[in-house]
Order: sequence, then structure tokens, then C-alpha cells
Amino acid sequence: SVVATPVAETVFRSKLPDIEINNEQTLQSYCFAKMSEVASRPCIIDGQTGASYTYTEVESLTRRAAAGLRRMGVGKGDVVMNLLRNCPEFAFSFLGAARLGAATTTANPFYTPHEIHRQAEAAGAKVIVTEACAVEKVLEFAAGKGLPVVTVDGKRDGCVDFADLIAGEALPETEEAGILPDDVVALPYSSGTTGLPKGVMLTHRSLVTSVAQLVDGENPNVCFNKEDALLCLLPLFHIYSLHTVLLAGLRVGAAIVIMRKFDVGALVDLVRAHRITIAPFVPPIVVEIAKSDRVTADDLASIRMVLSGAAPMGKDLQDAFMAKIPNAVLGQGYGMTEAGPVLAMCLAFAKEPFKVKSGSCGTVVRNAELKVVDPDTGASLGRNQPGEICVRGKQIMIGYLNDPESTKNTIDKDGWLHTGDIGLVDDDDEIFIVDRLKEIIKYKGFQVAPAELEALLLTNPEVKDAAVVGVKDDLCGEVPVAFIKRIEGSEITENEIKQFVSKEVVFYKRINKVYFTDSIPKNPSGKILRKDLRARLAAGIPT
Ligand code: ATP
Ligand code: MG
Repeated sequence: SVVATPVAETVFRSKLPDIEINNEQTLQSYCFAKMSEVASRPCIIDGQTGASYTYTEVESLTRRAAAGLRRMGVGKGDVVMNLLRNCPEFAFSFLGAARLGAATTTANPFYTPHEIHRQAEAAGAKVIVTEACAVEKVLEFAAGKGLPVVTVDGKRDGCVDFADLIAGEALPETEEAGILPDDVVALPYSSGTTGLPKGVMLTHRSLVTSVAQLVDGENPNVCFNKEDALLCLLPLFHIYSLHTVLLAGLRVGAAIVIMRKFDVGALVDLVRAHRITIAPFVPPIVVEIAKSDRVTADDLASIRMVLSGAAPMGKDLQDAFMAKIPNAVLGQGYGMTEAGPVLAMCLAFAKEPFKVKSGSCGTVVRNAELKVVDPDTGASLGRNQPGEICVRGKQIMIGYLNDPESTKNTIDKDGWLHTGDIGLVDDDDEIFIVDRLKEIIKYKGFQVAPAELEALLLTNPEVKDAAVVGVKDDLCGEVPVAFIKRIEGSEITENEIKQFVSKEVVFYKRINKVYFTDSIPKNPSGKILRKDLRARLAAGIPT
């Protein structure tokens, strides 16, 4: 018989050596492992109220939350829903549930009732922890299912007050026994950029591994330390903030300064008041700061590191931002809920930093493997060849909740997670994302990446924001059209925009039509909701 010789694969690794990661422990013991060193240091600071909790207090509050949740019937294998904007209680509840061997599913409190119910139902939530701005949306649903509702911002009829939930005795450590590394601890939903959000099962092992890949080791990929103050502005209901701000922050013993809502003025005040050193952002915030004349380098002088992730950021934007805060290192990470979530991270953030290129979204994290495959044939590609990015390691999800079919389509039999993103790895191991496979516009045989055109459009000083989608075209298959938000007072015309692009790109990337609009729809992690733009076009009301 003929035995097929396995085809050699090009597997990319970090430039940092692998480290020993103890991923047999629970997420909570991993996060509080340095307790004795940081016990009396500030852990969580509520930027809005100024309330500050030390590490000892936070640890104890998470145990009290565990005991309170247990009194409400939460146990191993159960799910708690956090329907919250950023607040300290988010952390208490999340880690409290973890101590019970329960998982937390997180959702945006500004979702519609329908979206919330769908997720609560699919995730099998046993308790909903929420706040005044969202409570009305869940009361009837919860009553129908017999689910208790907890509110974090004051007493309310028919709800449990979070203050009462944590009023009792703390859960002793001995009662945490029985949690296994492969138990699910977080059940985030993917952002729903390309379809309905999917429930992603992340275990203690995956999150411990993923946080360790960033902040552990002698030369950590991202050098956070206990002197740092991390700005927690991105929503904790998205895995980026939960992982890279809350969990990584706890692990290194830093102060985590919580901000509920983005506003440039409030941001500057918080940075100054708490001497923020680390600012995890998403591209729309980077754009806003780069284009704002209200923020000076002086305002942000304490910041030494700015991370951007969750959506594409082109080289020009990155350069413009860096000119604004020359003392900080700005770099990107590349994440995906299913990947645990971080696949790649900028190596300029390492304790012994590497030189990196603007516009790159980092190098694959350590203790992991990355490859690029031809989306049609699955063949492994070498450097500088764009293809679908795949990642493998202990950090990735164990699967989609109750969806073995989608799981099988995403994680192949060899353990590779297929991201659906097109990108390449260059000669220096740096990854450049081109765009999502699903978003690539096909003009005749040619491929056009919306992200590339958006980055170009943003370099126009009269363009405040931009989005590009493909629309069907009888002659060419698909053509790119742009949605443009002009800066105040600008009267730049459709033709001027088209010419601006035409000067810079090959013919098939030219913008076919421009729609001026007041807003580009984006979700809270900064992703352009192209499906909403397509719906606008389909409905014939593109602005
Ligand atoms: P869904 O899978 O439900 O459609 P989603 O993919 O937007 O939604 P997330 O898991 O929040 O949900 O986002 C992951 C995606 O975000 C990645 O697959 C990638 O397309 C994009 N992304 C993340 N970081 C970057 C980055 N630095 N540059 C470009 N794209 C990024
Ligand atoms: Mg996705």
C-alpha cells in the first residue's frame, strides 16, 4: 500500500523561548498567586466613585461573592450571566463564580432584550447579575424562568442587592476543591461581526495559559508589573478586556482603574489622577485621540504602553498616534474569542523589547504554534504569503457551547484553530492581518481588502471615519463602496474621495461609490459592523 508522506508544514513560533506554565491550577489561584507580595497594594479602583480595593479586599470579596452565589443555588458546572458595564462587582462576581466551579457568560447591557434572552437561554444562565440600565430588559424573562436577578447599583424590588449577596461569610478555600483544569470558567460570546455570536468555552487551563503567555516568564512578552496602573476602559464583557486588563492585571499585582464609558475628557482626567501607565485601547479610540486637538502629549505623559487590538489598525494611524505620545510604546495584539483569546502580541512590549514594525499585529505568543494556510487547499504557506491564520496550543477554546458541528469546522483533527482571518508572517516573524476571509471583496479575480482601503481613507484629514464594503456588480462581481463620516465643516465631495483613493491604489481597488454618513456602526470593541452597512444598502437608506 502507498503511505502518503506528510507534507512539511511551516510552523511559526515566538522569538521568546517557551516557559513552564502550570496550567493545572485554577484561574483564581493563578491570578492571586503573588498575594503575599501585593496584599496591601491597590487592586481595583473605581474611576467613577474613587472607591479603591486592595488585593486582600478583592480576594476576600470574591470569596464572599462565591458564598453568596452558592446560597442562590450556583454550583459546579453552572453559569452566571454578567450583564454589566465595567464595575468592580464584575470582577467579584466573575471570580466568585470561578471559585464555585461555575462559568460566567458576559454580555453587553446595551443589547436588546431579544439578544440578551437568546444568550441567557443558550448559555443556561442560573443567575443574572446586572445594573439599573439593563434590569428592565431581563426582569420578565428571569421571572418566567425562575432566575434570580442581582443588581450592583442599589436595591430594587424583586432583585437581590449585590451588597447583600456579599454580606455573608467568605467561602473557605477548602470548599473550592473539585475544580478541574478543563472545567469551563468563562463563556464569552464572540462579537457577532459575521453572524450570530457563538458561545465560546474557555477553561481554567486555557485562560491560565493565555495570561501566562503574555505576562509570565523572565522576559515576559508584555511586561506589566505591580507598579503599573492599567486603564480598564474597554468593556469587561469582551474577552480582550477581561483577559488582558483584569486577569493579566491581577496576575502581576497591578492597580486596575475602572472606567465605565469612553469620553476623551474623562480619559485624560483619569490618566492624570491615577498616573495610568498602561492603556489597552481599540482602533476607534486610537483614531479619536490621534485626531483630537483636546489631548496633548502632556495629558498622557504617564502612559508607557498603549495596546491596540480587536480590529485592524494601519501603519499610518499607528504612526500618527505615536507622534502624539512619543514616550509610550504603541503596539498591537491579535485576538479572537475562540483563541483564548490572544494569538499574537507585539514584542516591543517585552521586558527586553524587540524592534517591531508599525502596522504589524505582533508575533505569535510563546508556548503556541501558528501557521498560514491556503484557504482553498489547506496547504501550509511560507513567509510573506497571505493565507488563513491557524493557531494551536493549550490556550484555545475547548469548543463552542452545544455546537459540535461548528467546533469541528473551526478546530481541525490536528488541533489547529482556523481563524477565518487572512494574514501573513513576514521575515521577522511579524504578523500582518489583511482582512477577514469573509470580508475580502472579489473584483473579477482580484482581491480587495476593505481594511486596507479604510486605513487609506483615514489618512485623509477631512475624513473622520470610514468603512468599506463590497456590493454586487454585474460586470465585476463585486466592487468596493465607502461610507464616510466627514470631520465637522468639511465639504469634501464624493469625487474628491474617489480621486484621493485612485491616486494610491491599483484600478480594481478604486472606490465605486461614496455614501456620506453621520456614523459608522461599530460594536464596543471597535469592530465595524459591515453587516449593518449592507443592511442599510439593501434597505436603500445608506446614510
Ligand atoms: P464573530 O466571530 O461572532 O463574527 P468576531 O470575530 O468579531 O465575531 P471576536 O472574537 O471578538 O469576534 O473578534 C475576533 C476577530 O477580531 C479576529 O478574528 C480578527 O478578525 C479581528 N481582530 C482582532 N485583533 C485584530 C487586529 N489586531 N487586527 C486586525 N483584526 C483583528
Ligand atoms: Mg470570529
